[in-house]
Amino acid sequence: QWKKLNSQDLGISTTNISKPTRKVLNGLKRKGYEVYLVGGCVRDLILKRTPKDFDIITTAELREVVRAFSRCEIVGRRFPICHVHIGDTIVEVSSFSTSGQKFGRSLNYKLGRPAGCDEKDFIRWRNCLQRDFTINGLMFDPYARIIYDYMGGIEDIRKAKVRTVIPAGTSFQEDCARILRAIRIAARLGFSFSRETAHFIKNLSCSILRLDKSRILMEMNYMLAYGSAEASLRLLWKFGLLEILLPIQAAYFVSNGLRRCDKRSNMLLSLFSNLDRLLAPDRPCHGSLWVGILAFHKALFDKPRDPLVVAAYSLVVHNGGDILEAVNIATRINKSHDTSFRELSEPRNLENQTLINEVMDLAASVKSTLCKMTDEHFVSQAMSAYPQAPFSDLVFIPLALYLKVCKVFECVREGAEKGFVAKQGS
Ligand code: ATP
Ligand code: MG
Repeated sequence: QWKKLNSQDLGISTTNISKPTRKVLNGLKRKGYEVYLVGGCVRDLILKRTPKDFDIITTAELREVVRAFSRCEIVGRRFPICHVHIGDTIVEVSSFSTSGQKFGRSLNYKLGRPAGCDEKDFIRWRNCLQRDFTINGLMFDPYARIIYDYMGGIEDIRKAKVRTVIPAGTSFQEDCARILRAIRIAARLGFSFSRETAHFIKNLSCSILRLDKSRILMEMNYMLAYGSAEASLRLLWKFGLLEILLPIQAAYFVSNGLRRCDKRSNMLLSLFSNLDRLLAPDRPCHGSLWVGILAFHKALFDKPRDPLVVAAYSLVVHNGGDILEAVNIATRINKSHDTSFRELSEPRNLENQTLINEVMDLAASVKSTLCKMTDEHFVSQAMSAYPQAPFSDLVFIPLALYLKVCKVFECVREGAEKGFVAKQGS
């Protein structure tokens, strides 16, 4: 049974809608069109999470949307939508009139109109029926403050379940990218799958090989660059997808002992959980970073006894004190110093200017290496080589080092400045 719910009862405040999105909604509403937020952003607003992006759907035709805004174009040949430019952001708007076949053939699956729905409900319902998961099949009218729930999405949000709108086998056969979408959404929200959905993710996992490489990379980027990489990797592993997507890393899971899937004994999960702490859906990292971490992990896997690799590893995964320890090890290896860096970092011991300079140089060179390494050309080359060619082992270590070294760099500089002030004063 479908439901109309009051958005305020669900605790949704329209102030959580991004400014550019509000501008577009208002622009269309003012012209007399109906406008709705739809998909993942409605789900995230209910969950009080910051949406990664907002999708708008309107009763206006696309050419009418173009007329309503000064900077707006129609993009996409097969599934056209509008890109409205507001400042330097782009807001995506789709139209009920052209979204008919956007996501698949679900329309053929069930055309019976649900009981008690009028013509407008029918149009909204038909659009929601094409969506992948019930929790993504919600529509929100921010003016009437109504959430339309035709697929049971609210109930599934309450149960924290990812469930396909139509039977899972049919849904994944229709579009196997939904398998990867299911993993990323469950990972991000900490949701589990309905029994049927889980069954078909496992059973149809191999079908993702039919996807273009660019689509796979896009989904991998969503999984690894938006703050829920660790959970995504766990789910990929659990559902047999890691072997398909990241065979080297899957081999590591196997060699590490199948049951030792906790962060402490699994270096890969540990590295990514550290990355996750720096990221969020609205604050992702550059794709080169996760690619770098995968390569860095491979170096660890291949050369677990190389002292530089070990030092770099502890740099990336451990907290403050251990970072200093790791830099201590690393600088000793590099420069054969035996002064303890931990002591050095305390202001009273800041006499050894030579060592400070060297550590600062080290940090600066890591930083400049990073800048060189993240140029677009390099990154796109590295990414297109994956997963066929594993990277040459050590090239990405500076990238991984950067994550933490910069903090050390700041702390040394701050300590140095304080130390100098104290000395001058005395
Ligand atoms: P995210 O938080 O990562 O943005 P999302 O659910 O909003 O997750 P989007 O890629 O932004 O995902 O897509 C917006 C909406 O479009 C989805 O919520 C879903 O309703 C619909 N959608 C996207 N891709 C598909 C697909 N392959 N099949 C069916 N529906 C889809
Ligand atoms: Mg979205």
